[in-house]
Amino acid sequence: MTNPLWPDTANHAASILERCLGNEPAHCQAACPLHIDNRQMIALIGEGRFDDALAVVEEKLPFPKVLGRICTRPCEPACKRQEVEEAVAIRDLKRFVADRRKLPAVLPVPGPERRERIAIVGGGPAGIMAARELRLMGYSVTVFETGDALGGAVRRYIPRYRLPREVIEEEFNRILELGVQVRFHTRLGRDVSLTALRNDFQAVLLAMGAHASVKLNIPGEALPGVYTALDLLGRVNSDRPVAIDRAIGRTVAVIGGGDAAIDAARTAPRLGASDVHVFYRRSRDEMSASPQELRDAELEGIRFHYLVAPKVIHGGAIHGDGTTGVRSLECLRMSLGSPDDSGRRRPNPIPGSEFQVPVDSVVVAIGQTVEKDYWPEGLEATPWGTVHVDPVTLRTNFPNVFAAGDVVRGADTVVDALATGRHAALSMDCQLRGQPLEAIPRESARWDSGLDMDPGNVAPEPRQRVPPLPAEYRIEGGGEVDAGFSEEAARMEAGRCLSCECRKCVEHCGYLARHGESPADLVMTLARILDDPDDEARRIPYACNLCRLCAQVCPEGLDIGAMVLSAREQLVATGAGPLRAHRPVTNHQRWSTSRLFTLSRAPRGHGTCEYVFFPGCGLPGYSPRLVSGAYEYLRAHLPDTGIVLDCCGTPTRTLGDRAGFERIRQRMAGALRRSGTHRVIVACPNCQYTIGTYMPELEVTSLYRFMTRFGPPVPSAIQGAMQGAIRPNAVFSVHDSCVARHDTHLHDSVRELIRAMGYRIEEMPNAREHARCCGIGGMAGYADPQRLTRAIRDRAFETPHDIVTYCAGCRSTLASSGKPTVHILDLFFNPSRLANKSKFREGPLSTWVNRGKTKVHLWRGERG
Ligand SMILES: Cc1cc2nc3c(=O)[nH]c(=O)nc-3n(C[C@H](O)[C@H](O)[C@H](O)COP(=O)(O)OP(=O)(O)OC[C@H]3O[C@@H](n4cnc5c(N)ncnc54)[C@H](O)[C@@H]3O)c2cc1C
Ligand code: SF4
Ligand code: SF4
Ligand code: SF4
Repeated sequence: MTNPLWPDTANHAASILERCLGNEPAHCQAACPLHIDNRQMIALIGEGRFDDALAVVEEKLPFPKVLGRICTRPCEPACKRQEVEEAVAIRDLKRFVADRRKLPAVLPVPGPERRERIAIVGGGPAGIMAARELRLMGYSVTVFETGDALGGAVRRYIPRYRLPREVIEEEFNRILELGVQVRFHTRLGRDVSLTALRNDFQAVLLAMGAHASVKLNIPGEALPGVYTALDLLGRVNSDRPVAIDRAIGRTVAVIGGGDAAIDAARTAPRLGASDVHVFYRRSRDEMSASPQELRDAELEGIRFHYLVAPKVIHGGAIHGDGTTGVRSLECLRMSLGSPDDSGRRRPNPIPGSEFQVPVDSVVVAIGQTVEKDYWPEGLEATPWGTVHVDPVTLRTNFPNVFAAGDVVRGADTVVDALATGRHAALSMDCQLRGQPLEAIPRESARWDSGLDMDPGNVAPEPRQRVPPLPAEYRIEGGGEVDAGFSEEAARMEAGRCLSCECRKCVEHCGYLARHGESPADLVMTLARILDDPDDEARRIPYACNLCRLCAQVCPEGLDIGAMVLSAREQLVATGAGPLRAHRPVTNHQRWSTSRLFTLSRAPRGHGTCEYVFFPGCGLPGYSPRLVSGAYEYLRAHLPDTGIVLDCCGTPTRTLGDRAGFERIRQRMAGALRRSGTHRVIVACPNCQYTIGTYMPELEVTSLYRFMTRFGPPVPSAIQGAMQGAIRPNAVFSVHDSCVARHDTHLHDSVRELIRAMGYRIEEMPNAREHARCCGIGGMAGYADPQRLTRAIRDRAFETPHDIVTYCAGCRSTLASSGKPTVHILDLFFNPSRLANKSKFREGPLSTWVNRGKTKVHLWRGERG
């Protein structure tokens, strides 16, 4: 029978699932259009696990060598390290792991064959990514490509000194091994029509890129010696290069400020030019070219002229072979006005600022747009001349035709083309399966990171850089100019990553670390257990300390302990809890609240009382002497103080037994009522919490607050032999009880009392509201004894000093590790404890003997 989450547990679980940041992506992963888990990749590089790091990249990106070289790095501006000094070199690290692999990549295996056939027009990044994804889903995929190779603009235009041809072939041609059919030299609109494709295939993807150059529209643009960047780069990159080196001449002007302009400018010296000038109509800040490309261009001697626009290209030059060409470029100076639609400041010509520059050729690189010659009839366009699609589905106005990449977005980047190619594949799959379009996985959506990392205290560390090749060698060598990171540099760079994530609760809690990657995982585990509570798994909710440190450190204040407690309550209510292992606790509760160990009486000679002292069950079990000493002290200052010996029911409550706790509560309330007062003085923080929370009709005050008010029992008041045991100037650390983590007054009172006795305090690293549980909280040790042992040691040895605590349960737990630990009342009423550390551990029966003695002593009105 299914057992759905009850409202309490469900509310806690829902709030954790909704608000927990534990599964939030790092900023760099959110900003990456492919959502590559860079944080994990970098962590693995740091550990020297390079192949594993590559596997993380390849989960999302099948072209790591290509993108490792030419990605425009949209992740890096989002990197939190940027707030310290500079972003982590995420792209270079990706390239490092990709280049390091010596063996061929292991190809994934396509899923079961599906009968639908899909046509993809364009063999560039968008088309090939979609083809791969769809093929892996089992579809039969055919790519129609006008050229003779795969890779699109990447292969056609990106210069080989940035991206070697073999790298493109290695990564793009893998698609053929997956069984994707490619028809080269087949152009949409010339060799095949969209209508034919729509008839022959169940779905079509348009991914033709943007290959038409934007014109300058100035006189002289048609002269011989004027090139577009695409023309120049395409000719240089082609396998049959046209002899343009003679025509390009020695002095070259490049117009534009994007990556194509920089590529053209850097290509010119490789064709023999000695004097290359880039003219850009805005300032350097507005340039869209990547800063690294700009730096490399400057290193290679390219000269930049900002706030300059071309006006006329003058011809008239006569070459040695009698052909004519460009003689000079006439330019205008510009000033920047208010921002335009692109958000960049609009350039305005300065009248009369014309000047001429003698040049041999001009390369126009002011943008690309979609070609019009193949435009299929009826296909809807945007006002910018790109293919119009629904932004959620990437579907065009034809129901079975989708589009992705530059043909939709205009000239853009490879990583965006890949992301939209994948998005289109998921969308096409949804449509072909007849699923609602909302079923398109979140994968393809834009992500934001909800993380709120504060890198405030991070020490600066410079970003690693690949030493640049000398300029002459870069140009004359003809090879790739960037050598990539060495292993040493890669590991150092990986060390700069801040590993942005929220696992604050997991970092602070051994229980959470043991039971899942994140609290959301724990929610899922608990839901499964509540649905089908089998023996072993039921231990999981009982292994939490209910210490609520999680809520304290969580930026969202999420209280995992509260969810765990309500899950326990649900288990008990359905008869599946507590565990057999809890029998000692249930027995303890039965005995503890029996008449044998309980007592309620007014002070001798008084019918009723103004206050009642409630030492709980732990303190009497530890030391009758401390109970009597404290009671006498109280009576000296508050004569009308009665006493109630009982247990507040915390163990029953924390096991999730609401009904059992209610019985204890009623009985305890009766005993307190009989004493004739509603003012209770407690010595134990658990009693304070339980009575304070579940008996709001009572006024609860800690004994230690009274002691600070009246002053501690001074050494002179402590008799004879005991005085010798006091060690003035001894140093203690205070273990704060986790249940009292928000009681600042209690923390202060305890410390004031310790100092008043002449002792020094060295705080534990996790003190006060950040206190860690001693290990026994929530009765966790019964469900997970192994973790208990570790938790106790971790807490006890957080400090080199002896420990003082104000909870008898914490004291005996910490002392069980061998750590000298005393109760604060030992300092006043039993200082000999400090001298004889071997007596810190008690046997299991001694607590019952002590409780019996306490009752007898108090009954007789004697001191123990
Ligand atoms: C000079 C230059 C440098 C660049 N540098 C970078 C860079 O460093 N980093 C970066 O991220 N991006 C860069 N880009 C941009 C990047 O190359 C493109 O954004 C990306 O390639 C777009 O991918 P796509 O698949 O949409 O289109 P494309 O890559 O253009 O692929 C489209 C494919 O469709 C084919 N095709 C076109 N028309 C037809 C038709 N009618 N029928 C059949 N097939 C057709 C084409 O031949 C081509 O193979 C650069 C672009 C240029 C021009
Ligand atoms: S510091 Fe590391 S995890 Fe954080 S955004 Fe940068 S690369 Fe990503
Ligand atoms: S209550 Fe304590 S033990 Fe339980 S999950 Fe929170 S921090 Fe961990
Ligand atoms: S501290 Fe834990 S519960 Fe809170 S948001 Fe972070 S991961 Fe989630």
